[in-house]
Formats: sequence, structure tokens, C-alpha cells
Amino acid sequence: MKRFKIKTLGCKVNQYETQVIRERLILAGYKEAGGKEKADLCIVNTCTVTAKADKECREILRRFIRENPEAEIIAAGCYIEKDADTIGAIDSKIRVLNNSDKLNDGKGISYFKGHAKAFVKIQDGCNNFCSYCKVPYVRGRSRSRNMEEILKEAGNLISKNYRELILTGICLGDFGKDLGTGITLTRLIKEIAGLDGDFRIRLSSIELPDVTDELIDKMALPEKICHHFHIPLQSGDNDILRKMNRRYTSKEFVNRIKFIRSKIPGVAITTDVIIGFPQERDKNFNNTLKIIKSIKPSRTHIFTYSPRKGTKAFDVKETVSPSEKSDRYKRLKVITDKFAEQFKLSSYNKNQRILIETTRDKDTAKLTGYTDTYVKMLIDGPDEYIGRFVNYHKSLQTQSA
Ligand code: SF4
Repeated sequence: MKRFKIKTLGCKVNQYETQVIRERLILAGYKEAGGKEKADLCIVNTCTVTAKADKECREILRRFIRENPEAEIIAAGCYIEKDADTIGAIDSKIRVLNNSDKLNDGKGISYFKGHAKAFVKIQDGCNNFCSYCKVPYVRGRSRSRNMEEILKEAGNLISKNYRELILTGICLGDFGKDLGTGITLTRLIKEIAGLDGDFRIRLSSIELPDVTDELIDKMALPEKICHHFHIPLQSGDNDILRKMNRRYTSKEFVNRIKFIRSKIPGVAITTDVIIGFPQERDKNFNNTLKIIKSIKPSRTHIFTYSPRKGTKAFDVKETVSPSEKSDRYKRLKVITDKFAEQFKLSSYNKNQRILIETTRDKDTAKLTGYTDTYVKMLIDGPDEYIGRFVNYHKSLQTQSA
């Protein structure tokens, strides 16, 4: 029997698409190679979000070729879309699989390898053209998946005991806009929440202008929906936001977060920030610090800007030196870590429903799990808890299934 290996980089959409490829290969008679086993087919599902991601993809391809000299090597995903030549230069035996071929995934997925939760892709592509981002060029314009298909996939995953469905897309809030049927993301959430079973729904990243009143009202209901919004801020400075082609001001961002918190007490707000965008001066960066202090996110992913060829920002001269970038990163990290810690500590004083992950914590051997507000908890318990919801009682600091 032929064996394959697949390595995924990047976002949740890419991880979902890896699962689509995995299922297709298994259906075609392949078996997934474990650990150090050699494979006949090696696939890297690449990402091109940063220069660092590009580099990592090239390294994995080289490693696959070195460790599996007889194997067929395929590079798929976003990096190959505009950089097939760079990839071809690594080794002439590498074949590329375009996103348009990879995305021909009408059948979707029927399980999610190694997880208690499953990603469900509902949308692909993006129409926003943020000036730093290559995604619209490599994934094309926004398009939604058919709602019946999504519901069928969700129902199937729930019946297989996946307790959390993470709705995933490149521009999630665009869901439905191209279908011409009036269907919105909120309606989709309502339909999924109406399926039978003990599960919860989480939204992956959503852009601020797409966080509508209708969506907030739906998310506020105590029915199967995680009280968690991941809304990328990127910068807290209006000049930089304009240069990034983001569609909001810092004031609108802060006001919207306040509004969400007034409607959903205890909601988790997580975010992304890019530091070192061209022409970001100290005063611009200080505005980002100010906005972060105002919104107090419970988790912040900090990205250091790297120019992406083909984007608008690529042509703008870089003005922030590597040492300034590193300094800003550290200054921001101290603050965001503090807010993350505060939110985590406050979570220990609340009753929580935790979904237990499939692997234990490496250092403590405790079970790991996440609250609906995306706080990681470590708890004692038997293996039978794995993949199940566990109730954490704040007064007792104990847990029960
Ligand atoms: S919203 Fe902006 S950052 Fe996000 S994928 Fe679209 S263009 Fe890129």
C-alpha cells in the first residue's frame, strides 16, 4: 500500500483543506505514514502570509526530499500561487497543486484528524485588499460554500462526537453575500445551532465591519455559541489603518468592542496586531498601545510586518528598522501578556464548561482544555474525559464530566 505524508502551514482554512486532501488520498487507497516512516508521496500545504512562512515552507520541502528520496513531492497552497518558480528552483522534482484544484472540495470532510474539535470551512477568498496582504491574489475573490453542504458536514461531524465546530473562512463575514439568497452568517449560525447534539460553535477571525448588530444579538444567546470574537485590529492609529486599507477607525473599533461587551458580559475579545508597517512612527505605535490598553484583549497575536511582493505596501519604502520592530514587539507583548493573564485568572473564578483536547500537557501530564471564551485550562482527570465537556466548579476548583 502506498503511503503519504502531509505537512500544513498557516491558517485554519489551510488545515481544513489538508483534511480534504487526506480524505481523498485515503479514499484512493493511500495510507498516512507515521513518524519516521518513509512515504511515496509527500505534500506540503504551504502558506505565504509572511516571509517567515515562505522560508519554513521551503525548509520542509527540502527536508521531505532529503528524507524521502524516492517520493513524489507536491507543493500545494498559497505560496505556490505566485512563487511557483522559487519553489521549482528548490528541486525540479517538486510538482505544484494550485489552490483552484485543491479547493475543488465539494465533498468536504468527514472527520478531523487528532482533534476534539473540527474546522468547518464556510467561505473562501477575500475582496478587501488590505495593502499588506497577499491573500486576495492567491485565493481569489470571496465566495461562499453552499449552506446545505455546510449543514450536512456539520451534522456528520457532530454525530461523530466533535464537540466544537469552528466556522472558518478567509473573510468569514462575507458568508452569504455572493449567494444572492439573503442568507447571512447569523442565519447559518442559527441553522447549525439548531442541529441536535451536545456541541458548541466558535467563529474564527472576523473583520470589524462584519460584526453586525444581528450577529452580536445571536452570539449573546446562551445556546451553543462560544462567547468569543477574534477581531483583527492590526493598528490603533488612523493614518496607518488608512494606509493598510482597513475599513474602520480606531474609535469605531473601540466603540464596537464596548458595545459587544455591553451585550455579552464576559465575552472574550482576541485580536491581531501588525507592528513595523512602513512609515509607522513612534507616535503611530503609541496609538496602537493606547487602543490595546483600552480594549484589553484576552489574547493578541503580534505579527512583525514583512513586505509581500505583489501587494500595494510592497512598493512603500520600509522605514522601521529591525531593532525598532523588535523593541515595539517587546513593548506591546508586555502589555498584551498582562491582559491575557488577567482574563485567565478571572476565568478561574467562574464556573466553566471545558472541552478536553486529545493530548495531555507535555510538562504536567494534566488534561488540557479550552473554555468557550478560549482560555486554556489544565486539569486533573482520567483519559475518559478526552474529547468531552467537563464542568469546572469555581468554588471547589474541581471538575466533573
Ligand atoms: S481582510 Fe485583509 S488581511 Fe484579511 S485576508 Fe482579506 S485582504 Fe487579507
